[in-house]
Amino acid sequence: MSVAQPVACNEPTPIRQRGQHEVFCGLTSIIWLHRKVQDAFFLVVGSRTCAHLLQSAAGVMIFSEPRFATAIMEERDLAGMADMHDELDNVVARLLERRPDIRMLVLVGSCPSEVIKLDLSRAASRLNAVHAPRHRVIAYSGSGIETTFTQGEDNFLAALIADKASPRSAGEAAKLVVLGCLADVVEDQFSRLFAELGLSGVTFLPGRDAIKGLVVGPETRFILAQPYLGAAAAALEARGARRIDSIFPLGAEGTSAWLRAICMTFGVDMARLDAVVAQPRRRAAEAMAHYRPWLEGRRVFFFPDSQMEPSLARFLSREMGSELLEVGSPYLHREHVAGELALLPPGVTLSEGQDVDEQIDRCRTANPDLIVCGLGLANPFEAEGRVSKWSIEFSFTPIQGFEQAGDLAELFARPLMRNAILTGGAD
Ligand code: SF4
Repeated sequence: MSVAQPVACNEPTPIRQRGQHEVFCGLTSIIWLHRKVQDAFFLVVGSRTCAHLLQSAAGVMIFSEPRFATAIMEERDLAGMADMHDELDNVVARLLERRPDIRMLVLVGSCPSEVIKLDLSRAASRLNAVHAPRHRVIAYSGSGIETTFTQGEDNFLAALIADKASPRSAGEAAKLVVLGCLADVVEDQFSRLFAELGLSGVTFLPGRDAIKGLVVGPETRFILAQPYLGAAAAALEARGARRIDSIFPLGAEGTSAWLRAICMTFGVDMARLDAVVAQPRRRAAEAMAHYRPWLEGRRVFFFPDSQMEPSLARFLSREMGSELLEVGSPYLHREHVAGELALLPPGVTLSEGQDVDEQIDRCRTANPDLIVCGLGLANPFEAEGRVSKWSIEFSFTPIQGFEQAGDLAELFARPLMRNAILTGGAD
């Protein structure tokens, strides 16, 4: 196990930490993906542990027919005493017979299926031969061996984009693809802004219907709505789409820059952009101002969880006046987050990957006012009297766009406000 030191931002080659990490696996992303993609069903091929994770991460169980489940691999499967492909075919046949409304079946790999080298891509091809076009089948890995929770979404989108069975030529090619899962309310707000800007031919991926497919033409451009989509972006580039570079639509500054990058690409007049965003930007400023007193000057430490950390840190530093002690990210996609890194204050400590014990020591030494970290670290930190924020909430909560800028600020401010009540202090 190597021990690596963090490095100051703006140094050319940040050192990667390769020690033990504590992050949820890629299965967790099913929780927000199944809400968004309403014609899909996510079938995890995994163990009882995977089923428990999904059930507890989903919180209150769903009362109607769910859109995810776990095909549990038993001991005889893992011991190689049963033909896993036959077993899977039977499970899928029974599921599709009972749920004919499922248009897209998504097989999700887990640690156990990875360990026994069950090839789910091959299984998807075989099942497509039986069930398409009525039901389409794709596969991706959400295994904790390979993925952190946001990488589950990345792998799902990459599989969706690369799916050769999807309709690729029916209808007009998309002019703009917004890549990354956004809550319906955020998608609707951006759709309205695009309409006011005179932009048409916009496709959100994932959309509400996965089965629709994506038509990419020589003029198709795409912009990332989330910073953790390296594989999905590469899959879209492989189909000929070109990326629009921007920081991410978090906070008023991020959302303005993101829309500006789109408008510049499509030749929208800047005066028109200014007129369209004036009101929403004002509303965002008012909403954020409410929480700024709680965050200004507060010292914040980010553990690496979602790859959203540089964008969240940029928002806290530049729009809320917080001080950044360390910004950790499981992985830094140099190209995609270059704009975000350039906006972080000079000299801020930046770390990539994780060596959790080392990082806990640094955090205790730095003694921050607020620690952004996973659930497994948050509870022990709280027990020490420290204030923490669960990083996974930034994935579950709609935070993109002008109308959500206040909610984003509130997510950071809430634990500090709660602590003030508990300790009876003004802060
Ligand atoms: Fe655990 Fe791996 Fe299943 Fe995730 S995929 S719940 S890490 S066993």
